[in-house]
Amino acid sequence: MSTELLNISISKTTHSRINELDWNDLPFGRVFSDHMFEMDYIDGKWQNPVIRPFGDLSMSPATSILHYGQTFFEGMKATKSESGEILIFRPEENAKRFNLSAERMCMPEVPVDMFIDALRTLLTVDKNWIPSQEGYSLYIRPFMIAMDPYVGIRPSDTYKFIIFTCPVGAYYSEPVKVKIETYYSRAVEGGTGYAKAGGNYAGSLYPAMKGQQEGFRQLIWTDAKEHKYIEESGTMNVLFVIDGKIITPASSQTILAGITRRSVVDIAKDWGYTVEERKVSVEEVVSAIKEGRLSEAFGAGTAATIAQISAIHYDGTTYELPPVEGREFSNKVLTYLTDYKHGKVEDKFGWIMKI
Ligand SMILES: *Cc1c(COP(=O)(O)O)cnc(C)c1O
Repeated sequence: MSTELLNISISKTTHSRINELDWNDLPFGRVFSDHMFEMDYIDGKWQNPVIRPFGDLSMSPATSILHYGQTFFEGMKATKSESGEILIFRPEENAKRFNLSAERMCMPEVPVDMFIDALRTLLTVDKNWIPSQEGYSLYIRPFMIAMDPYVGIRPSDTYKFIIFTCPVGAYYSEPVKVKIETYYSRAVEGGTGYAKAGGNYAGSLYPAMKGQQEGFRQLIWTDAKEHKYIEESGTMNVLFVIDGKIITPASSQTILAGITRRSVVDIAKDWGYTVEERKVSVEEVVSAIKEGRLSEAFGAGTAATIAQISAIHYDGTTYELPPVEGREFSNKVLTYLTDYKHGKVEDKFGWIMKI
């Protein structure tokens, strides 16, 4: 099947932490599985692929990543079916996007087959960490960092590619109040917005903190030029239901091409909804709210799958949105996608990779 298969050396932990795991207390991103995958890029090629106990990295204080932020990441999920098969949701899409980010950050690509091989092997080693309970999943974090111990701005010659995983609980996300940001920007034309590059998130912390001080859990970013068009939220794309149609900003250089959003759009079309992927102005959304034509607003991303938006703040006014319980499309798509990821509905789109 593949010519890129890695010869991964596996050293297993002698102290598994699986029995200490409290399945009822899994704060997102704080509980780590026993092992991690690690591979080095040296002399122009990937080498030394290993699976080893999850643990610290050691590096020189001069290491490039620590100063200039040459790094990017991915985020995806796996679950276990009732019959115990490991199911990964659309991992090739993450592998492809990983390489888009790599190109933009001047970093080496990881061939898709290699990426998948590393992932499959790691999940097989840590299969006991993959939850099968309703709504639970294994969050997977692949990333790459620049490793040259060198002070100076140029692409590193050496890199590390790592994958670790976190079992995560049912993500009952409370509906969020969001603020449409019209001063700060997350991404600009020609910038790195479409890549999952570390710096994009570092730069968004300060505006997000200001929004939180004003009482808003998340920001909705607008275009950096005019602040007239809606882009996306911090780690989620946004969708609206207006006049019964699903409306969402099209992916672009400044909007990350979310796999969840893509999946929601494909499902909506399959269900016969009209979907418009295009520029969406703030004005259009605000008028639709005022005129009672907006029935749903939500974020879409791997962590929450669907996060309902309960209120939108814009230009000094907070607009309350229709109650979450009555939101037909987003509630239905959340249930469907959750069942889909757990193998409870037919894989009609071919999105599930089984191990
Ligand atoms: C990861 C991310 C998303 C969501 O992408 P998914 O593939 O659906 O998880 C959306 N926006 C930003 C900025 C992100 O980093």
